[in-house]
Amino acid sequence: SGARVRRANSKRLPQYMERGVDVKFSDVAGLGNIRLELEEIVKFFTLGEMYRRRGVKIPGGILLCGPPGVGKTLLAKAVAGEAGVNFFSISASQFVEIYVGVGASRVRALYQEAKENAPSVVFIDELDAVGRERGLIKGSGGQERDATLNQLLVCLDGFEGRGDVITIAATNRPDILDPALVRPGRFDRKIYIPKPSLIGRVEILKVHARKKPMADDVDYVAVASMTEGMVGAELANIVELAAINMMRDGRSEITTDDLLQAAQIEERGMLDKKDRSPEMWKRLAINEAAMAVVAVNFPDIKNIEFVTIAPRAGRELGYVRVKMDHMKFKEGMLSRQSLLDHVTVQIAPRAADEIWYGENQLSTIWAETADNARSAARSFVLGGLSEKYYGLSDFWVADRINEIDLEALHVLNDCYERAKEILRRNRVLMDSVVNRLVDKKSLTKQEFFNLVREHGHLEPMPRSI
Ligand code: ADP
Repeated sequence: SGARVRRANSKRLPQYMERGVDVKFSDVAGLGNIRLELEEIVKFFTLGEMYRRRGVKIPGGILLCGPPGVGKTLLAKAVAGEAGVNFFSISASQFVEIYVGVGASRVRALYQEAKENAPSVVFIDELDAVGRERGLIKGSGGQERDATLNQLLVCLDGFEGRGDVITIAATNRPDILDPALVRPGRFDRKIYIPKPSLIGRVEILKVHARKKPMADDVDYVAVASMTEGMVGAELANIVELAAINMMRDGRSEITTDDLLQAAQIEERGMLDKKDRSPEMWKRLAINEAAMAVVAVNFPDIKNIEFVTIAPRAGRELGYVRVKMDHMKFKEGMLSRQSLLDHVTVQIAPRAADEIWYGENQLSTIWAETADNARSAARSFVLGGLSEKYYGLSDFWVADRINEIDLEALHVLNDCYERAKEILRRNRVLMDSVVNRLVDKKSLTKQEFFNLVREHGHLEPMPRSI
């Protein structure tokens, strides 16, 4: 065929082509609707001619945005795999060289190869390494990078609307990209890939379990709830570690326990990076336990998914996944009381610090949630929900602002007292949750609610302040 002849004639073997890319969409899990968007891109290859005839615009480039390990590379490969086209890849950090001109010539070579072997997908990882806004980097390194970026822009423009070479780039920092890169015809389509949800994690675990000898009764949901905040790459690793565990014991099936142990190893790998004193662990545990223990009293926010003090990428402190009743929230039907409950939950860590350590030994680990509480209390007052009503126009009158802040402080204080009261009444529950957290770093929803059933003294019914 023509393509084969052309390939035989080209002087050297393609350097950037990855052979035997056999990834399919079914290998990428937990993406929900995002998958539909990528299926559309596959159609640019398969139906490109028809699209063009009908005047449908084919994007020059697609930008996959999201943290490391969520599957951006995997997705780009799956697009190539599903469309049955060649896959070319390079990391933009390889573009950036000390010698002027090298980066630009690499970009040219990459696109030359992709064109000779079209149809093809060009995948550029870490686009921000080269695509940072021009002029932000000073010195000769910056000059070189600008030359590379310019070359990339030229190449992108060369393929605009053709549909036989499509560029997919990945970045965790779409916000710092040069505006020229995201203009129409270039990377004009952005797709955000978040960290996977609980269900997403279940699906990802299952995809990686496909090729492994899993026991029939593996509880994927339990493993997924222990891995809040983890990404696909980490979940894939957990399945591998679990398999090693099984082999070491000379068993023939991977069990839930293997997976849970592996999850802890994966997590501890992260823990080791953060050396915390036992005292710090305890304080964090009290902080997070307080939010969970207070929240469980409130009908609209008692849906606690997870309590953890395990450090994770991007999150310094602990984490309670407290969910407001989502439907009510969306419909604006949250009652005045639920909003106060929300403030009470956010101020609970501060209250706990006072109860457990006393006014003189306060830490600052509750600063962030206390901030949330403060601004929620203020919105409460400005929304006209407190006893005194303030209209929007009052907001602009300087001496009114003091009044509003004072009223917000009253609301905050009432919530603070209420949080303390709940915490005092639930000391046993607090102690048991704190001990578990210090010991295991995380509690699943079920473990938490078991402790609540055993030790909790919940508010008998919703009451007003
Ligand atoms: P990124 O490019 O976003 O940094 P990768 O695509 O390189 O992430 O992911 C690394 C590995 O992690 C993949 O090869 C795959 O094994 C696993 N992985 C990541 N995300 C997913 C996912 N959504 N579904 C299945 N596996 C995934």
